[in-house]
Formats: sequence, C-alpha cells, structure tokens
Amino acid sequence: MSNFARYAELLNVDCNTCNSACCRENTVIGLYPQEAQLLREKGTELIPYASDEQPEVYEACQAVRSDYILGTDCAFLGENADGQSICTIFGKPNRPFICKDFPPACYACIIRREQFGVNEPHTIARFCDLEQSKY
Ligand code: SF4
Ligand code: SF4
Repeated sequence: MSNFARYAELLNVDCNTCNSACCRENTVIGLYPQEAQLLREKGTELIPYASDEQPEVYEACQAVRSDYILGTDCAFLGENADGQSICTIFGKPNRPFICKDFPPACYACIIRREQFGVNEPHTIARFCDLEQSKY
C-alpha cells in the first residue's frame, strides 16, 4: 500500500464524499495546452497563474504545462445518484493528466479539503504527524 493510500485510510479521506474539493474555484491546476482548451470550451474560467520568481524556469514550464487558477468550479463537475459532485470525464482518456495523477490524501488534497470544510477535525495536524514519522 502506498503512503497516500495509507494516509487516506487513517485520515478518512474519500473522493466519493468530499464533493470534489480539488475541482473548485480558486484551485491551482497545471494543464497542457489541449487540456486548458478542453476545460475552457466546456465553460471553465482559467486565470493564468503568474510568478515573479525565477522567470526563466517559469517561462520554460509555461511552454509545456501552465499553471492556472480555476476562476470557476471546473465545468466538468456533475452529480452522481447520491447528489455528490463527481468528475463527469473520470476514466476518459482526455481527462487532464494532473487529474488522473492526483493522489487522494496528498498534501494539496488535504489543504483543498480543509478549505472546502470536509476534513475531520485536526486532519492537517494528523497529516503532518504522519509525514514526519516517515523520517
Ligand atoms: S483528491 Fe482529495 S480533494 Fe480531490 S476529490 Fe479526492 S479526496 Fe477530494
Ligand atoms: S476534469 Fe474532472 S477531475 Fe479534473 S478538475 Fe475538472 S472535474 Fe475535476
């Protein structure tokens, strides 16, 4: 079992009950050009994420995969039979790479869940304890 899978169990992190906290307005998301186009065509507002630090590194990254802030919830969100928000292109090949590769209970997931109010109490502190206990 991976570290994140273990954290998910211990911290009760479940994608099926968090209402897609990581797909909501104000999330930072890294997208390849065709993925950004896909989200925009569906109606998602993407705001380029600018950085003044190490502009040459930033520029090189922008040439391939760019960071954006979601200006709206992702337009690919829909609802399942239980009324939970879910990704309507889950499992489809055109789903953005970052969405396919985003492990539940990673740091960014825990923070988004906290901002969205779906973590159990003290989850961030417990996450930090788990991380630090690895060393
Ligand atoms: S990765 Fe984390 S924030 Fe995203 S849907 Fe799953 S539990 Fe929620
Ligand atoms: S494509 Fe799906 S997983 Fe990715 S941000 Fe949009 S709703 Fe979330």
